Amino acid sequence: MSNDIESTVAKHAAELASQPEGGFPAQEQAPPGLTSKMDPVPDHGEESYEGHGKLQGLRALITGGDSGIGRAVAIAFAREGADVAIAHLPEEQSDADDTLEFVRKEGVKGFSIPGDLQDTDTCARTVEQAVESLGGLDILVNNAAYHFTRGDAGGLEGLKQENVSRVLRLNIEAILWLTKAAVPHLGKGSSIINTSSIQSFEPSGRLLEYAATKAAVNNLTVNLAEELGPKGIRVNAVAPGPIWTPLQPATRDGEEMKKFGADTPLGRAGQPAELAPAYVFLASPRDASYVSGTIIGVTGGKAAW
Ligand code: NAD
Ligand code: MG
Repeated sequence: MSNDIESTVAKHAAELASQPEGGFPAQEQAPPGLTSKMDPVPDHGEESYEGHGKLQGLRALITGGDSGIGRAVAIAFAREGADVAIAHLPEEQSDADDTLEFVRKEGVKGFSIPGDLQDTDTCARTVEQAVESLGGLDILVNNAAYHFTRGDAGGLEGLKQENVSRVLRLNIEAILWLTKAAVPHLGKGSSIINTSSIQSFEPSGRLLEYAATKAAVNNLTVNLAEELGPKGIRVNAVAPGPIWTPLQPATRDGEEMKKFGADTPLGRAGQPAELAPAYVFLASPRDASYVSGTIIGVTGGKAAW
């Protein structure tokens, strides 16, 4: 085992030992949640991710790049030589600033674009700002998403108009508008990567509308790969299993954190750092030159098909 893997496994073993139920200490935050308030703070590969120039000179826009999986992807892309713009909600500016600090440390450009992507015009403006600041665009990572199941929310019984609209607008509509705005700037060798979920394959009732949006993300991924293939643009998705990010304590009951991820075959939640290599692979014009319309599961052992 490499030192990186050994240290990740050792860190998890220590966390699991301190949490006999297999998860994390009970905790809650208000949505969208901040990294600094999490216990423990997730691992985004700050100490471990090693770049090999796989994305040298490419320009990426990552939605939800301030925290969680998006932050790990931003750090990895920067270490692979890409300039990075991250989109996030205005109230997440402190998380965005921390991510950008890691990005800029690599000697690449890093920009932050605040805005609520539920709004169609904001999606278009976000892409335009990214193109302007980066001087073009090669990679779009549609990663921002939302769900809410705290208290009596969740399932058919708990459906609330406000939550359902937010989930549909952000998890599906925003991907359509961001992609539509980005495509005119993408060329041969470019790629789009959507963040799906294990929920698209193994839906849980509590996440009724969210799971449906993630199944739609898979469907969109295949359809867009078909449409954009002739332009030389590849479209793929990553389907994460349970990952320790602000989304979890910000949207579920605090007590649920104690067992979060314990029901996977690997017996634990994943860390954002463990997702980044899948995004780097899919973004790499060399490594993934013939990979399009596919969904890579990073699920801790649950079937992602
Ligand atoms: P996260 O909270 O760190 O990231 C989600 C991001 O979405 C936020 O940082 C925020 O910037 C963005 N966002 C939320 N509402 C927004 C809005 N209205 N406008 C603009 N941006 C908004 O959590 P994460 O777990 O890293 O989530 C990233 C992706 O991973 C999501 O697509 C999520 O569905 C997916 N996912 C997560 C898990 C998990 O267990 N954490 C599992 C499967 C899939
Ligand atoms: Mg965030």
